Formats: sequence, structure tokens, C-alpha cells
Amino acid sequence: MLKNLNKIPLKQKTSYTSKILRKFGLFVLKNYKFKGYNSIILFKVKKGKYKSYILKKTWNQFLKYKKINLKSLVDPKKYIFDLAKKRKVKIEKNFNYTNLRSNKRTSDRVIFTPKYGKFKDIQIGQSLEHFLKGYGFNPGNFYKPEQAIKLLFFKRKRIVLDSFKISKNTRISSLKVPNYPLSGKFQGFLFISNYSKVVDRNDGFEFKNLYEKKKFIQSLIPNYKILSSIDSNTKSEEIVDTLCDENHTWSTKITNIIHGSKCLHCAAENKNQIGGESFDTYKNNPEIANYFSNTYIVLIKGKNKKHLKIGIANNILKRGSGKYIKIYYKFRSKRANCWCLEMYLKKLTYKYRSGHKDKDVNGWTEFRDYKKINRQKLILIAKKTTKIIIKYGWRKFYKKYLTRGKKLDHTYNEII
Ligand SMILES: [Zn+2]
Repeated sequence: MLKNLNKIPLKQKTSYTSKILRKFGLFVLKNYKFKGYNSIILFKVKKGKYKSYILKKTWNQFLKYKKINLKSLVDPKKYIFDLAKKRKVKIEKNFNYTNLRSNKRTSDRVIFTPKYGKFKDIQIGQSLEHFLKGYGFNPGNFYKPEQAIKLLFFKRKRIVLDSFKISKNTRISSLKVPNYPLSGKFQGFLFISNYSKVVDRNDGFEFKNLYEKKKFIQSLIPNYKILSSIDSNTKSEEIVDTLCDENHTWSTKITNIIHGSKCLHCAAENKNQIGGESFDTYKNNPEIANYFSNTYIVLIKGKNKKHLKIGIANNILKRGSGKYIKIYYKFRSKRANCWCLEMYLKKLTYKYRSGHKDKDVNGWTEFRDYKKINRQKLILIAKKTTKIIIKYGWRKFYKKYLTRGKKLDHTYNEII
């Protein structure tokens, strides 16, 4: 019952008003004296969010509305800064707290930067109302959206194009952002990335997300002419035709080029080993498939011990470079036939891999434990398999035995 004080004698007004206020949980400060209806009364509250702050109101204001709010604070700035501290955000220094209004007017936004989390160091602008209520923040709250996106992408090791601009009313979560990786094999090649894929999921730099695919592939094989069309939708599993600097037509999966494969015709002519071998490679490059090669079983001297090695080479002696102690078996045929035999024997002996002990020696993945494998039996199987490959042809043989999940004709037991 706040009321008009006209009937209270002047001397009693101070004690009367402080008593009334106490009833409502409001405690006037020491030295309080009632000076009139429009004079400020300083007080504190016993509990609630304003507990440790000094508040102010005139008696007339109490008469109208006895509840207290942000406007009742003597120093709203301190309250807002304390709140920011609690929420681990930093209020920007240029923030104009004196004109604060608790509504959604953008000019009254609270500008702050979180000190933790995904939006760490990103300037956020929230209406005072939302800030006081502790609403979470999202890309819609970025104070300077372009700057925020640039910083967020930078955190993900990407540089956003300088010319990047956001038009008004754009939904940032579905925004496409042109950017370049800061490092790695895709550095210097443009990506058009979905904002949320990069910022929310931290998608890596993958070929599928690359925008400048043709430029990238061309940079890997600078002297080759790319004959197939490649655009931003091209997949790494797709086969492209190229013309190498020796005028060979070379067809291969993009993924092979990414992994460093070069023209197989050149490789077959110049080198002993052919990289990027696969069924498709041979199917698309009959010239390579028909090139003569060798599958061999040799004894090789590793760093610590000897191993059995099953390999393929156009020229075994060149390939072995002195490390091959003994050649047990050699199958000379079309490269695709040799490859099938090699794959078959490797699959058969997979369980008897030598392990990682000699990893300093090249090709250790092909090493087999020569003490566990019965050489004579293995060679016998190799000879039988050779006949089957030649009878079926390499394509049919591959499909019968070497595609994923297919069983071999022979078992482990036959080689130990
Ligand atoms: Zn070539």
C-alpha cells in the first residue's frame, strides 16, 4: 500500500517510506531522507538478479509501478558487464550503454564477442532484450557478417575471396562462400563451400568439394592435354582421357591422377613398375594390358631378414637392384595376365605377410614370411593358376576370383 503521503507529517515521512519499502523487500541506503515525490531514493534488494546492485526510483515512480527493472539500476553498465563476464563474452568498448532500451531496436544492440566456442572472437550483435535474457546466438546475430564469415573460415584454414559480399536478407546458414585453402595440395584452387558444412561440420578439403577441378587436375599433369570435360560436378571415380606429352592417349580414374599416376604407356616404355593399376586401367588401355611383363616369386634380402616376395615388373633384374637373392619363379606374359597372377598369389598368401619389421625396404607390403610358406607348393599353384588365366583370359579371371568378396580356387592349407 503505497499511497499519497500528504496526510503523513513531514518529520515522519522518512521513516514511514523506508518502512513501506521494506515490506516490498526494498532497503533504503543509510543516510536516506525523504525529500519529495520526485526526488531519487537509493535502495537495494534482498534477492534476485539485482541483489548486489544499487537501485534508484522516485516516490512517484513507485506509485506508478513498484517493480524494478534495468532502468532502476544506478549503474546499468556495471550490471551488463557483470552479466557478460558470467556468460564469458566480452562487451565491445565502443558499446553505448547509456542509450540502452530494452527492446529490439537495432541501434540499441549489445555488441560482444564470445571468449569460447565456435564463435570465439566473432562480433555478435543482440538486442538488449535478448542479451539480458541470455538468448543463444547464431549467424543471424553476426554484427559484421562478412567479417565474421572470413574469420570463421580462416579458423578452418580457408581464405574467403576479398570480393565476397552478402546481400541483405541472405540466410547465412545456406550461404555459398568462395574460398581458397591456406595450405595443402588444394592451395590456390577455388572452393565454393556451403557455410554450414565448413563452420558447423568442418568439412575437409576434398576433391568432391573443389570448384576448380579441371584447373587442379591440369596442375598435376601440366604437360598433358585433358581430353574429357571436367567441371565442378565431376567425381574422382570418373575416368578421363588425356593426351600425354609423348602423344599417348591415356585413360584413367581421376583419383589415380590425384595419387600421382602418370601416363601408363610412358611408364610401360620407360620404367619397371606401373602405378595406378586396376581392372579399369587395363580395360581402358589395351596397349598397356598387352605389354609384356613378368610376375615373379623371389627371395629378397630385407634389412633384418629374408622374405619371399611376389611382384610384377617389366624387367625383374632392374627392379630388384641387387636385393633379389634368388628367383624361384617367373611368369612372362601380357601385363594384364601377370597382374592377375600377382593379385591372386598375394591374396592367397595375405595371411603370411612379413609385417612391418622391414618397412625401411621398399615394397614391404608385398613381403611374405618365407619360413611359413612352402615354396614348392606355392610355385605349383602359380603354374596351375597361370594356365587358368590364359584359358579364361584376364578379364574373366579377374571377375571370377579377384573382385571383392570372390573366393580363390586354392586355400591357405595348400601353401603351408
Ligand atoms: Zn605417355
